[in-house]
Amino acid sequence: MAAALQFVLVPLLAQGHVLPMLDLARLIAGHGARVTVVLTPVNAARNRAALEHAARAGLAVDFAELAFPGPAMGLPVGCENADMVTDVSHIIAFYDAVWLLAAPLEAYLRSLPRRPDCLVADSFNPWTADVARRLGVPRFVFHGPSAIYILAVHNLAKHGAYDRAAGDFEPFEVPDFPVRTVVNRATSLGLFQWPGMEKHRRDTLDAEATADGLLLNTCAALEGAFVERYAAALGQKVWAVGPLCLLNTDANTRAARGNRAAVDVSRIVSWLDARPAASVVFVSFGSIARLFPPQVAELAAGLEASRRPFIWAVKESAGLDDGLEARLKDRGLVIRGWAPQMTILSHPAVGGFLTHGGWNSTLEGLSHGVPLLTWPHFADQFLNEALVVDVLGVGVRAGAKVPSTHVKLVNPRELLEVQVGREDVERAVAELMDEGPAGSARRARAKELAAKARVAMADGGSSNTDLKDMVRHVTELAQKTREEDMVLDAAELVSKKMDDADGKYPVASEVA
Ligand code: UDP
Repeated sequence: MAAALQFVLVPLLAQGHVLPMLDLARLIAGHGARVTVVLTPVNAARNRAALEHAARAGLAVDFAELAFPGPAMGLPVGCENADMVTDVSHIIAFYDAVWLLAAPLEAYLRSLPRRPDCLVADSFNPWTADVARRLGVPRFVFHGPSAIYILAVHNLAKHGAYDRAAGDFEPFEVPDFPVRTVVNRATSLGLFQWPGMEKHRRDTLDAEATADGLLLNTCAALEGAFVERYAAALGQKVWAVGPLCLLNTDANTRAARGNRAAVDVSRIVSWLDARPAASVVFVSFGSIARLFPPQVAELAAGLEASRRPFIWAVKESAGLDDGLEARLKDRGLVIRGWAPQMTILSHPAVGGFLTHGGWNSTLEGLSHGVPLLTWPHFADQFLNEALVVDVLGVGVRAGAKVPSTHVKLVNPRELLEVQVGREDVERAVAELMDEGPAGSARRARAKELAAKARVAMADGGSSNTDLKDMVRHVTELAQKTREEDMVLDAAELVSKKMDDADGKYPVASEVA
């Protein structure tokens, strides 16, 4: 019997990228493969629970830990994840340190008893391309962001839209797109498309163009048109295998996803149990986005005025009025630090999700049939908002227009600290939670999409079929590689025998 396939997964060291990669690891292992996820010590410690869940399910998933070369690039010791880079001047150093993982990754792969059959690397990790090529290992790119975003960036670059724009805020339509979508440079920049990171961007495009295939965390029901156009534009194999968050079906896995929750999860569940179905708004801006203190104060005032029960995961306490929780009595619950997001979103009491629209959060809301109130900050989040509100019809816009990366450029003398005022929050929450015909239709569509996403991941669904096809493809590649290796081994043996026989051809029985 052939040995189990061996996959090595290399996520970007950011929670929004590590978490879906850990889900992907369990998904692939569920098809009989052995999967190693490459992390650094801090990231491995944070995500140890995922290994325990895999082990309990009898899945062959493990971690390989590489020391993070951050200090060599001037980062503080232990700063190993994008959400720990709080000083913007450290961003480039962080990615430079990530790029330095190439040599330790290669040494690790060479130390394995046999060459892995496939390397899956986050699109932010293009430095893996040379490593895989040197070792002769097939390599797939895993895209953390949405298909609508990667297709938009591809088309905008191809048609020269970024170069033609008169400035960061001039609106333009995404060319050759399945739906009419208007963006500007600021709201549609691609990976590493900012000054000082030109090499990182070039590496990313090259690594994608030379990949043996692409994996997307989405499904046909949510983004079919965008996935198809992307596959056609690149002329590559593309497998849509998500939403990966749907693998977290049991309460323990959900509660321990990512960092250890900053609260007692059972307290949150009891609080939600005591609320009517679909009555609570969950508010969270993911692992990286931060609000300015005056914006925190406006959001707090808007939530207070909304009269709806809410749970708010707050990373930045500055601007938060200490008396808020006492004033609201039991109506508002504030979590300071890491929230058990999947536990909350999967609870029937949650009826709306005010989100920055990171792709994982978007998928987690959609997969649980929860309508979204979108408040984008950067990266793919503005296009995700267009998908959720304009294409899928399951969201409401909070009204943010300028990415947090560009607030200084709007008016250099005065920071645009507040983009969504208290009245905007109150209005948007009311619209999101509205029980009239518009709100009810939105909720019904959200439930319908969630059901379709589940079907996609179930046996025979589109994502399940794509995953099986990807595994079959790797099996075939592995088979081919083994045959080539056998031919090479035989050729080596022949040449050795010829050396031994002083250049005379050995007889067939000697080689066999
Ligand atoms: N997350 C969480 N608790 C938090 C903050 C984030 O569980 O307090 C999880 C969230 O469920 C999602 C991921 O972290 O899976 C964040 O990824 P996303 O793409 O939404 O946003 P990013 O953090 O990358 O901006």
